Amino acid sequence: MITHYDSLLIGDDRVTPANGSTIRVVSPNTEEVIGEVPEAGPADADAAVAAARAAFPAWRALDPAERAAHLRRFADLIEARKDRFAELVSAQNGMPMAVASRLEALYPALLLRYYADLVADQREEDRQGLLGGTIKVLREPVGVVAAIVPWNFPQTLGFMKIAPALAAGCTVVVKPSPETVLDAFLLARTAIAAGLPPGVLTIVPGGRELGAHLVAHPGVDKVAFTGSTAAGREIAQTCGRLLRPVTLELGGRSAAIVLDDADLDLGAIGADLFVATLANNGQTCFLGTRVLAPRHRYAEVVDAFTAFAGSMTVGDSLDPGTQIGPLATARQRDRVESSIARGRAEGGRVTTGGGRPADRDRGWFVEPTVFADVGNDDAVCREEIFGPVLTVIPYRDEDEAVRIANDSDYGLGGTVWSADPDRALRLARRVHTGTIGLNRYMPDPAAPFGGVKDSGIGRELGPEGLAGYQQFKSIYC
Ligand code: NAD
Repeated sequence: MITHYDSLLIGDDRVTPANGSTIRVVSPNTEEVIGEVPEAGPADADAAVAAARAAFPAWRALDPAERAAHLRRFADLIEARKDRFAELVSAQNGMPMAVASRLEALYPALLLRYYADLVADQREEDRQGLLGGTIKVLREPVGVVAAIVPWNFPQTLGFMKIAPALAAGCTVVVKPSPETVLDAFLLARTAIAAGLPPGVLTIVPGGRELGAHLVAHPGVDKVAFTGSTAAGREIAQTCGRLLRPVTLELGGRSAAIVLDDADLDLGAIGADLFVATLANNGQTCFLGTRVLAPRHRYAEVVDAFTAFAGSMTVGDSLDPGTQIGPLATARQRDRVESSIARGRAEGGRVTTGGGRPADRDRGWFVEPTVFADVGNDDAVCREEIFGPVLTVIPYRDEDEAVRIANDSDYGLGGTVWSADPDRALRLARRVHTGTIGLNRYMPDPAAPFGGVKDSGIGRELGPEGLAGYQQFKSIYC
């Protein structure tokens, strides 16, 4: 089935794209065209920002409870279409349906309701001044937000921006990745069906030039970006020049620290290990793909990870039994394959995978791959691979494990695996990272998510995520 959208949607209006060009979506499973949408040009982005500016005064003036009611209605309609959202994402980026139906289908409504509740409960604060009098501390919406979203979790990462921004009283222009525009159009239609006022949420499908146009647009007050560290640096430069607030969620190369008392029984830990190290075909920013193993249990850990990765069912992402689907694009597969070649050239030993699955002659598949006999200084351990590739690095003692974990340009996720929760927690405190899990990993909407070092600036999720779309204003009474 080919999904075809013939018009751009800006608020309630249908706008024919200025440049008349289209974006074709190609299936990573079959390499066939599965959809086509109009591509937005700079004039469309200008119209979207103008609509967002026009909608902002009325949207911010709504009582928070009324905005919350809008968000809950939006959540209900998204939930009613959740299977279609999951299917579209899976068909476009190769995310296994088992992952898409648990994350992409559920997170958006969860986030809308979470932020609806949070903002409905927020009150103006009166503080006692140290110098006498009282101070009213207000939270005002920052204004028009440009949200730039990658293809790997387009709905979840989109709503990590859209939900708190709308709740705070901001209006939002979203630029999805060209790889995942079909779910973005369904989202635009759902927003209209939910009765969001025109201009409050607009989607402009396009590539990096359109993203750069939005980031520098004089009508934009804040930029929220998830994507590569390289693009994040460019965006940060523009925002620095313009003194424009920006949140950056960037790349990662996190550590999965296996302590010497860890349970390696895959029957017990396999499902959690999957989410923490291989989910979404390795195309997940927080994964712990640098596995740190105690030297005296090194062979045992390598064997366990080899068995784990080697047992994955690789196949069409739309098949409900698939655990590892194809990579999102041919370019992405090329990048992953060149990282594997580099790891081999550096002397790494491939214990499972390392190539393309023999039974797939179409689609951008790479076998789940494990490297042993690698060191943390090797490029295969330092660079973000963004594919199903794990490297197992030995360590001598806990201090060395912490040193290796922290010896990275990134600091986004990570895990500690241990039978002793107190010991795992003590170790987790020492890892320089934005988030870390004990014997499991899953970003939770209730807590801040984001990175340190090259993994980004700022936090999404939790009340902290809402604060990112609010300006504080003090009135000295
Ligand atoms: P990318 O940076 O190439 O693109 C991301 C988005 O930014 C796309 O919409 C793209 O069109 C746009 N874009 C690219 N360059 C731009 C520029 N100069 N100005 C404005 N917009 C620009 O990243 P990608 O390859 O699509 O996504 C994968 C990357 O995202 C990985 O590096 C991954 O680690 C990262 N990621 C981070 C998180 C996180 O929360 N930290 C989550 C998921 C993915």
